[in-house]
Amino acid sequence: MGYGLRQLGKLLSVIMMMVAAFALHDSSAGTVDDIRIGDHRGMTRFVVEVQGQLDYRLFTLADPYRVVIDLPELAFSGNGNAGAVSGGVIERYRFGLFKPGVSRIVLDLDRPAVVKSHFLIPPHDGHGTRLVVDLKAASRAVFLARMEKPKPLPQGSRPEIVAENRSPSARKVIVLDPGHGGVDPGAPSVIGAPEKHITLQVARVVRDTLERSGRYDVLLTRDRDIFIPLRDRFEIARRAGADLFISLHADSFKSASVRGASVYTLSERASDREAGLLAAKENKSDVIAGIDLGTEPPEVSSILIDLARRETMNYSAHFAGILVGELKSAVPLRRNSHRFAGFVVLKAPDVPSVLVEMGYLSNPQDASALANGNNQKRLAEAIRRAVDRYFIKIASGQGNVL
Ligand code: ZN
Repeated sequence: MGYGLRQLGKLLSVIMMMVAAFALHDSSAGTVDDIRIGDHRGMTRFVVEVQGQLDYRLFTLADPYRVVIDLPELAFSGNGNAGAVSGGVIERYRFGLFKPGVSRIVLDLDRPAVVKSHFLIPPHDGHGTRLVVDLKAASRAVFLARMEKPKPLPQGSRPEIVAENRSPSARKVIVLDPGHGGVDPGAPSVIGAPEKHITLQVARVVRDTLERSGRYDVLLTRDRDIFIPLRDRFEIARRAGADLFISLHADSFKSASVRGASVYTLSERASDREAGLLAAKENKSDVIAGIDLGTEPPEVSSILIDLARRETMNYSAHFAGILVGELKSAVPLRRNSHRFAGFVVLKAPDVPSVLVEMGYLSNPQDASALANGNNQKRLAEAIRRAVDRYFIKIASGQGNVL
């Protein structure tokens, strides 16, 4: 009898563990039910309510002033444009997938503020788990002195690596890089979905178009709505042994009449002031997503890398020229449609890389064309023709095409 009970006890504990494991798994795929901001007597309260359990870490960043909250991977409703809600010291907030297993909320503050307290309220009265963050305006000096430092995440997670090995086939490897993603929405659109959704849609159409030709293996740096640091994007291309890296973006401008596509390649010195400003804007992606750039390793430099980079830059410029020629027939182009600037995402020393600004989401015609399936296909066909021509040229006489 005693033996039977012990067995039953064992079985029960196994079941309990399974239930616990299931509950844990379940909580990691929870949903955000509500986000509220309140401002009362000089105190700004930010509340996130989720179904299930909640682990979090919180830290602050200066320049611009931000509070970053990392949570387990959660489903948020809306399309990532939801920074509209503001109040007190919170100018807006953004959220999205930061990396596999980690969702991130970034509070953009309109002035320096200190985190007075942050705590969890367990579920009750029909509410889910609530995370409460109280903020109070402070001087810059106090903000800097009381900065919350990032602590290791409660759960480990590896960076998303799309490709590890080059395929054994003779096909050229093209890496497409849909700009922005997750907590970084990119440019807002006058008609709807922000840049991060447009770039992913177009990248998928370009991938399908290139793959249909049978000549290319195509990888995406991201195939879902997730943030990827700029350096990881080109590292994905390097690890895949890519022959070509194409970063896809769509710009926005204060004047709604500006429209048209342009192609950019890497240069230490910008071809013009506008290109320089654009690169500075695109390079902010990591800052927008709340990466502390103070922890980035310094750039490695050597003569060998510089030589490789120079040759790569020549190939990049060569492809950019061909691409501009093909885009002409598919989309309106801006004047001086091939420009140069210091885009971080184009800095792979050994993979020819271009960045395509496909149009302006601040222009109604461009915005609706970029969201339109037929136009996306036309754009993808133009890119496919340019890729074909580029590799034919390269194969027909390595050195003298440049
Ligand atoms: Zn962009």
